[in-house]
Amino acid sequence: MVGILGLFYGLRLKTEIISPGKISTSSPEPSANQPLAEATPTLIPTPTPIPLPDPKVYGPCREVPVLMYHHVQPASAAAEKNQKNVSMNNEVFAQQMAYLAQRGYTTITPDELLSLLVTGSHPVKRVVLTFDDGYADFYTYAYPELVKYGFRGTVFMATGLVGGADYLTWSQISEIAGSGLITFADHTWSHKTMGNASEETAKYEIGTAKTQLEEHGLGPVTSFAYPYGTPSKIAEGVLVDLGIKTAFTTIPGNYQCAKLPYSMRRTRIGNSPLSSYGL
Ligand SMILES: [Zn+2]
Repeated sequence: MVGILGLFYGLRLKTEIISPGKISTSSPEPSANQPLAEATPTLIPTPTPIPLPDPKVYGPCREVPVLMYHHVQPASAAAEKNQKNVSMNNEVFAQQMAYLAQRGYTTITPDELLSLLVTGSHPVKRVVLTFDDGYADFYTYAYPELVKYGFRGTVFMATGLVGGADYLTWSQISEIAGSGLITFADHTWSHKTMGNASEETAKYEIGTAKTQLEEHGLGPVTSFAYPYGTPSKIAEGVLVDLGIKTAFTTIPGNYQCAKLPYSMRRTRIGNSPLSSYGL
C-alpha cells in the first residue's frame, strides 16, 4: 500500500501543474489543436503511463468508468465567473447524457460499483456519474438531464458551502433527493485537502459533512471524494472508522479494484463527445 500511496502523491504533483480538463491520459481535447501543438512549445507535460494495480493483490478489478464533473453551465456563465477550467457546456452535457442513453449504459451508485467489484461480476456498460462540490448549476442544468433518462448521479458535497453564492441550497438538495436518483456524498465540510491533514482535522471535516448530510435525511453516507484529489492514509482510516465504504480520487482511468475501495479512479470530462473518452 505504501507503494500505491507514493504513486498517488507523485500523481498529485503531476496533476497540479496541468490545467484542469487536460489531466486524463485519455483526454481528447488536445487533438483538435494537434498541428499547432507540434509547432508550438506546450506547458503540458507528456503523460507518463500509470501502472495499474496488480489484480492478484487488489482484485477482482474491472473497467468501470467514473465520470467527474464540476460546473455544468453555459459557456458564457463560465467565462463571466472565471470558471472555464472547471466547467463544461450544459448543451454538451445534455448530448453526453443522450449518448449514454442511446448506447444503453446503466448508471450506478458508488455502493453498486463496490458491490460489482467485490462479487467479481462482469457487467457491461456500467458508468458512475459524479459531480463535485455541490454547485447550484447542478440543479439548473445537470439534474434535469439526469431526470430525463432516469440516470443515477452522485454529488460530492462540501456541506459547509451549502447555501453560499453559486452553491446548492438545502431546499434544492431536498427536492433533488426526492427524485430518488441522486446520492449525496461526503466531500468534507470546508472542502479541505486531506493530503496533509491531521487525524483530528480529517475526523472533523469528514465527520461533520457526514453528520450534516444525514441530519438532512440524505444518509446513510457511504461514499467520499478527496478534495483536490489528494488522498491520505490518515483520512482513509477515518473513512473506515466512519463506515464510509468508497473514496474517489482524480487518478485518471477506469480500472477499479475491490481491494482499493478508497482509491477509485475517475475520468475528468470536458467538452468533447463521450466516445472520445472511451465510452
Ligand atoms: Zn471539490
